[in-house]
Amino acid sequence: MTSSLSSPSPSPTYRIELTPPDILSYEAGNTGTPYVTTFDSGKPGPHVLVQALTHGNELCGAIALDYLFREGVRPVAGRLTFIFANIEAFASWDTSNPNRSRYVDEDFNRVWSDETLKGTRHSTELRRARELLKFVDAADFVLDIHSMSEPCAPIMVCGATGQGGEKSAAFARKMKVPQNLLIDTGHPAGLRMIERGAFGDPQAPQTALLIECGQHWERSSVDVAIDTTLRFLQTTGVVDAAFVEPRLRVQPTAQTTINVTQAVVAKSLSFRFAGSVKGLQVIAKAGEPIAYDGDEVIVAPYDHTVLVMPSLAHLKVGTTMVRLGRATPG
Ligand SMILES: [Zn+2]
Repeated sequence: MTSSLSSPSPSPTYRIELTPPDILSYEAGNTGTPYVTTFDSGKPGPHVLVQALTHGNELCGAIALDYLFREGVRPVAGRLTFIFANIEAFASWDTSNPNRSRYVDEDFNRVWSDETLKGTRHSTELRRARELLKFVDAADFVLDIHSMSEPCAPIMVCGATGQGGEKSAAFARKMKVPQNLLIDTGHPAGLRMIERGAFGDPQAPQTALLIECGQHWERSSVDVAIDTTLRFLQTTGVVDAAFVEPRLRVQPTAQTTINVTQAVVAKSLSFRFAGSVKGLQVIAKAGEPIAYDGDEVIVAPYDHTVLVMPSLAHLKVGTTMVRLGRATPG
C-alpha cells in the first residue's frame, strides 16, 4: 500500500459491533486462581497458554476463548490453559466510554519484569499479574490476544529484535497467519508478557506471540482471534487438526515481516500527523513528512517506510505515537 499524506483527519470514534461476553461461568476455573482453567490431556506434550483481556476493552479475545470453551476444545497432548486476565478492568466496561476499561491503575502489559513483579509497588494490575505469574512462567507456548485503537490489518507482534522476536516470527510462519509479522524494539514503558524470561531468550525453546486482531470493536476481530488461536493451538501440537480445521475462518495469504527500526515519541501536545494515516501505510520516499511536533518535522527515514500502529488516541508527552519499520517478504 502506498499513499500520500495529504488530508488531515480528526481522531475518530468507532462503532461498537461487539457485545462483551458473559464470562462469569469461568470465574471458578479449576486451578484455584479465578478465571484460569487448565485442561490436562494426561499425555506428554507442551504446556500451552492462551490469554484474553490483557486489556479490558479488547473484547475479541474473550469472545474467542468463550467460543472455544463452548465448542469443547481439549488437548490431545500436554496441557492447555485459558486465562481471562484483567477481569477488573473488563468489569468496568461502559459502552458509552469503552476506552476507560483498558485498565484500572496501569497498563497490565508493561509490568512483566521481575523488578516490577517482585518489587513492593501495588496496583490492581500488579496484584493480578503476580497471581498469573506461575502460569506464564510454566508455559512453553503463549498466545496473548489483543486488538487495536485504530482500524488496521491484523498484526502478529513477535517480540523484540535479538530478544525472541525472530523465533516467534518463525513460529508464526508455521501458523501461516496473519499476513503481517512484527519484530519490534520492545516497549520503553515496561516489559510485555511475551518478552518475559525464557520467551525473550533467543536460545530458549519457549515461544510467545501477541496477536493484534484489528480495531477493538469490529466484528472481524473475532474471526481473526478465533482463527489465529486455532492455528496456534494446532501448531503447538496441543490440539489436533480434526478439531481445528472445520472451525477455521480466515484464508492465509503470503506473509511479510516488518522490522521496527525506531519509535516516534511525542515531545509536545501539539504532535500531529502530516495527514490522515492508517496502520501499515507505506511512505514511498525517504524525506516525506510523517508528522509535526512543535517546530520539528518527522520525516520517513528510508524509502517504503511502514507506519506501525499510528494513533493519536493516547497523546501524551513521552508516548510512542507511531513506530517505523521496513517490510520484507516472508
Ligand atoms: Zn492490547
